[in-house]
Amino acid sequence: MNDLRELYQEVIFDHYRRPRNAGMLEGANREAEGYNPLCGDKVKIYLKVENDVIREVHFDGSGCAISTASASLMTENLKGKTVKEAQQVLADFHAMVTGHAHDHDLGKLEVLAGVREFPQRVKCATLAWHTLEAALEKRDDTVTTE
Ligand code: ZN
Repeated sequence: MNDLRELYQEVIFDHYRRPRNAGMLEGANREAEGYNPLCGDKVKIYLKVENDVIREVHFDGSGCAISTASASLMTENLKGKTVKEAQQVLADFHAMVTGHAHDHDLGKLEVLAGVREFPQRVKCATLAWHTLEAALEKRDDTVTTE
């Protein structure tokens, strides 16, 4: 169990140090911003959605290791998924980090399951996902976890 936990931390730290799909996305047609005042995490999500499929997804911002790793892992997971599939992953991810049962295997995202033991960290982990939801729904307002 400890080995597993270390491995998970390694994946999280790796995504924090070398975030995937970071920076502005040229040609994005949906975007939203999110803010977690509790920790100071800020994130902006850019999507390029064509025919209901997420062709590209990028994120930008500054935040703690958990919020950055979560956003980075999210972009990896969502590329190529339909909007409906993305909403399902979002629901499963939210269930996982809040300690509820989830229906589908979340693959690499499972490394973030440990945050459920740290309620204040749940907001860091879910910030990118709440912001994704706003971008998918084309809401323009800034999302806040408070
Ligand atoms: Zn944070």
